[in-house]
Order: sequence, then structure tokens, then C-alpha cells
Amino acid sequence: STVASSKTLTLSEQLAQGSRYALAKSITLVESSRSDHRAEAQQLLSYILKKQRDQPLTKPTFRIGLSGSPGVGKSTFIEAFGMYLLEQGHKVAVLAVDPSSSRTGGSILGDKTRMTELSRADDAYVRPSPSRGTLGGVARNTNEAILLCEAAGYDVTLVETVGVGQSETMVAEMVDMFVLLVGPGGGDELQGLKKGIVELSDLVIVNKADGKLADAARAVSMDYTSAIKFLQPPSPLWKTKVLRVSSRENTGIDKAWEAMKSYFDTMTSANKLTEKRGAQRKVWMWRQITSELVDRLNSDDKVKQHVAELESKVFDGKMTSGQAADSVVDVFLNKVKEDRI
Ligand code: GDP
Repeated sequence: STVASSKTLTLSEQLAQGSRYALAKSITLVESSRSDHRAEAQQLLSYILKKQRDQPLTKPTFRIGLSGSPGVGKSTFIEAFGMYLLEQGHKVAVLAVDPSSSRTGGSILGDKTRMTELSRADDAYVRPSPSRGTLGGVARNTNEAILLCEAAGYDVTLVETVGVGQSETMVAEMVDMFVLLVGPGGGDELQGLKKGIVELSDLVIVNKADGKLADAARAVSMDYTSAIKFLQPPSPLWKTKVLRVSSRENTGIDKAWEAMKSYFDTMTSANKLTEKRGAQRKVWMWRQITSELVDRLNSDDKVKQHVAELESKVFDGKMTSGQAADSVVDVFLNKVKEDRI
């Protein structure tokens, strides 16, 4: 229904007032596996979208993805960078897409001791990655949570992720700008290149450019600068930049923000961010269509039985994968038709 329930209204009003409680509650709804919760969450999101079409947010919002291998200093950087943004008068939300949680139930990003100062700040909201669910599900929830954070007045949202190519791609598909954080160590530090993550990056930040590591950081920064010359930039309007910072000593953080703002200005003045966000919403629509179709297909008993038979035929080489796929889809569509009659 297009009419928001009173529950949705209350929650969205509380969100608009910047209630941290309402924000936490809304994100929990988005993350819930219960269908009534998800329906309520969709209603809330659609209400927020409509409200923002009628009355755009007073502050422009900026979504920044941040990726980097474990140990490069993501949480140290986010703590320093987040505190800097607060000083500049921004409200900062930090979300995370942790690919490890879906595989092992453990977590690389979920550690509670991370970003302690930022977590306690009034104008910051730090949300750990959901600890359960598939990578696709976790990413989709995070994509929706961005909208909720913005509705609650957080104008800068950082989405942190770590090291599995697929999680980086998904985060890049939900943010305005994608930033790669690397360390000063040589060798496997150029790993991001091999995995195609540098290609996604609008900015590469070499962290730990301090003390004994300063020279190494300079060298790594030059390596990236020359490597990037051979890559196609993510946007034709923007050339990927390489910067050095020390999150520990708080140097270069201002330059990093300047570079991000410059990207934001370049993109908004060419009206590219509206376009990018629109295209991203379409990407997420198709992700949802794909996963929902597969879910529904898998939850149908008749189809399940057929799938089991075909799988063994494919396994034995008695049928091609393509033929089997066609047959499964046909059986599923027929089943849907029968159910309608
Ligand atoms: P994450 O796993 O990417 O979140 O990395 P952390 O932020 O936990 O940092 C990993 C280690 O690197 C910690 O021991 C940090 O103190 C250290 N570290 C982080 N940033 C810097 C920096 O700018 N300079 C130096 N020298 N060490 C840093």
C-alpha cells in the first residue's frame, strides 16, 4: 500500500528528528529475516524516498566506500577521519560490509573495540556489519541502511569493507566514491591491483606514512601512481588520485577530505551523482529480482524435486548445464501459472 502505516510514520518522524534509537530500530528492521519486518522496512524506505523527492534534504549527502586489507589501518583511519569530519560540522555514519561473517560466522570488521572515540561521539553513528546472512544479503541491507542514516541527518556515510573482490564491487555499487586504503609495505601491498580493486577506486590512500614507514609509503605511493596510469578510471570525469596519510599522527587527513570534496564537486556539478545513484538503484533492483527468484524457485517442492533429478543428470554428463537450466525455469514458470489458476 502507498499509505504509510502509523507505525512507519512514527518511526520516520523520529528518524527525521535524528533519533539514534529510531535509526538503530529501522536498521534492525531492514536486517531482519522476518517478512513482516522486511515489509515494514520497505514501507519506511519508500516513505523516505517519497519525502525526499517532495522535500530534498537540506544538506547534500555523500556516500564513501572504504576498503583495505586487514591491518592497513581502516579503523584507525575512520576514527581519525570521522573525528575530523565532526570538527567540520558533519554528522558521520559508519556502516560495514563484512564478507567473513557470511562464511564463518566470525568477523574481521565486527570487533567492538574499534573506533571507540567516534562511537561515543554525539554526531556519529557506528554500526557493525550484520553478523549473519549471505554477502549479497548483508550488502543489500547496508545499501538500504545508507538511506536510513541520511534520513536521520547523517550527511556523510562511510561504508567499510575488506578484501574479497565481490564485497568491494557491491560496496562500490552503493557509494558515490570508492576509496582504497593501502599500507606502506611492499610486495603484496599491490595486491589490490591483482584483484581489480584499484580499478574501482577513485582515491588510493597510503596509510602509515609516518616515522620509519614514511619512505616506504612514498615508494608505494609512487608505485600506485604509475600503475594507475595504465588503468581506465572509474569515471571519465575524474582521475584517480594517490595520497599519503598517517592516521596515527593525524597528518594528511585534511588533504584526503579535500580530494573527496573535489571529487564530490566535480561529479555533482556535472550532475553525475544523481545519475550514478539512479543507476545504482537499478542495479540493486536487479540483484533483488535475481535473489528473490532463486529463493522462490528453491522453496518450491515440485521444482526442488525436478532440480535434484536434473543436477544428477548434469553431474553424470547426460544433459548439458544449459538444457537443465532451461528445464528448471520452465517447470518453475509452469508451476507459477498453475498456482494462478
Ligand atoms: P584495520 O584492520 O585495517 O582496521 O587496521 P587497524 O586500524 O586495526 O590498524 C592495524 C594496525 O596498524 C594497528 O596496530 C594500528 O595501530 C596500526 N596503524 C594504523 N594506522 C597507522 C598509521 O597511520 N601509522 C602507523 N605507524 N600505524 C598505524
